[in-house]
Amino acid sequence: MGRYTGPSCRLCRRSGEKLFLKGDKCFTPRCAFEKRRNPPGDVSRRRRRPTDYAVHLREKQKAKYIYGVMEGQFRHYMTEAFNTPGVTGMNLLRTLERRLDNVVFKLGFSDSRKQARQIVVHGHFRVNGMKTDIPSYQVKPGDVVSWKESIKGTDFYAGRIDGVPKRPVPAWLTLDSGEMVGTVVSLPADEDLQAIVDSRLIVEFYSR
Ligand code: SF4
Repeated sequence: MGRYTGPSCRLCRRSGEKLFLKGDKCFTPRCAFEKRRNPPGDVSRRRRRPTDYAVHLREKQKAKYIYGVMEGQFRHYMTEAFNTPGVTGMNLLRTLERRLDNVVFKLGFSDSRKQARQIVVHGHFRVNGMKTDIPSYQVKPGDVVSWKESIKGTDFYAGRIDGVPKRPVPAWLTLDSGEMVGTVVSLPADEDLQAIVDSRLIVEFYSR
């Protein structure tokens, strides 16, 4: 199955909570979830109480929506997480957080992960000076994420400089906002990992 290309806000309504997929709009009254919280689809065919399976499935889907990952890759991350020492759920979230598109988003270089994915694919970034246009690239401590030189004269880049100070950068990354360069200081610690997802439910879903 291909990548979901429908409205992002529909995914929030499907999940029953705000997933903050659209950048600044998510923090304004224009947020679609603030206006309409009911799930999309035929109301008459909806169960009153979700089954246990549905609760687990929804959590897994939520993580996929947030990070923009398709089922095959998510399953691959899950297998890796099971095979890595430590807490499986934390391993999974750490892998998701270390994706290059997520790092670009967390550094404030894009408004959303979706936009981050697009500008990574368009080759706007260098990792340790090397062109890296793979959104799923896993950053490691010491990696330096910088913009391609030829982008720096564009209006888009100027707009990004203005956007950078808006969000705090997580502790495992540092940002030189003058140079627009980010450095991966360490792997994300457990407390840095996305609290919006209950990784325990996801692990249980794949352990069935
Ligand atoms: Fe979700 Fe953001 Fe759309 Fe609101 S504006 S429904 S938080 S994607």
